[in-house]
Amino acid sequence: MLIKNIRIENADIGSDVRIQKGMICEIDENLTALEGEEVLEGEGGLLLPPFVDCHVHLDTCFSLDATGPNLSGTLFEGIRVWSEYRKHLDPEEVKERARRTLKLYQEKGVQYIRSHVDISHDLTALRALLELKEEVADEIEIQLVAFPQDGVFTSQKVRENLEEAVRMGADVVGGIPHFELTREHGERSIHYLMELAQKYDKLVDLHCDEIDDEQSRFLEVLAACAYETGMKGKVSASHTTAMHSYNNAYCDKLFRVLKMSGIHIIANPLVNVNLQGRFDTYPKRRGITRIKELLEHGIPVSMGHDDIYDPFYPLGNGDMKEVLVMGLHLCHMMGYHELNDSYRIITRYGADTLNIAPERYGISVGKPANFNIFKSGSFFQVLRSREGIRYSVRNGKVREREER
Ligand SMILES: [Zn+2]
Repeated sequence: MLIKNIRIENADIGSDVRIQKGMICEIDENLTALEGEEVLEGEGGLLLPPFVDCHVHLDTCFSLDATGPNLSGTLFEGIRVWSEYRKHLDPEEVKERARRTLKLYQEKGVQYIRSHVDISHDLTALRALLELKEEVADEIEIQLVAFPQDGVFTSQKVRENLEEAVRMGADVVGGIPHFELTREHGERSIHYLMELAQKYDKLVDLHCDEIDDEQSRFLEVLAACAYETGMKGKVSASHTTAMHSYNNAYCDKLFRVLKMSGIHIIANPLVNVNLQGRFDTYPKRRGITRIKELLEHGIPVSMGHDDIYDPFYPLGNGDMKEVLVMGLHLCHMMGYHELNDSYRIITRYGADTLNIAPERYGISVGKPANFNIFKSGSFFQVLRSREGIRYSVRNGKVREREER
């Protein structure tokens, strides 16, 4: 297949891209179609690598009909409602809800997902999602995080489930240090989880400092651990919303450690703007990590949808552009170049966070032909006009075509 006249990642001029056997084999101006070659007219539209959602909970998405509504909209009611529901999970029902979620993602050009899976009560959801992951592997790549939602030091059973989950094939060790019983338990949990990840050669992604308490400072512990263990690039911290409330002097010191550690930060703006700030009157904090400043310091930030139609977040449509736009507004990242370049947060930086091998992701000759094409020629215009993808291409095949 030959794709004519597309602008690769905001390029000023159009290029042509040739695909053979599912791989990008040629990129140049004015390539001539071979005999019998299918030609797709890009018409000067933007071409981007696939979107990456670095943080979602496929086990909870689309459960809101069954769990009943979260009337207050708070995290605490969400946890209470979910904790009741998870006692009676059925593997087929988990898969069916996850399939609905994945369909949304595919329509929106997302091809890589990291999903946390609650293993505190039992391993039903993880078992179901491990199966689903294999079933859909050609279409959409999923990483699964063994997530001890209740904290690892609340019971021996959670620790047993966690280690069993890792043995069963979870890709990533999860955790939630700010939710452990005390600050000391939280610190211990980080060391415990990092050792577990090293023992089984896994990645690490903790729900870290997802609270408006400026005293919640587990991120520095995790970053120092990542630095000292040499797990550079394999460790992520999700949420880190307490950073919103840190003083600037502490943040300056923290950024140095973050940079040294090679840690990845994952922001979840849609969900955190809803769940954080709930103890404030006015002015109300907006519960978002410092995306703008982190990026300015060269610390990679990616994003996640976190929840879709579940007790923690009632809305959501799988569109990473929606997640991004919320984050850009909240973080004062509305300058022209900030907007135009922001696609990197939900594409390449996400791929780096997921530790996808560089030869498997991105737009250059010799890489798999995975990408999205838009009608507009720049990401700024894509965001401004809120347009959907025109074509989504996976392994050289056009999978989704949106109405224009
Ligand atoms: Zn989460």
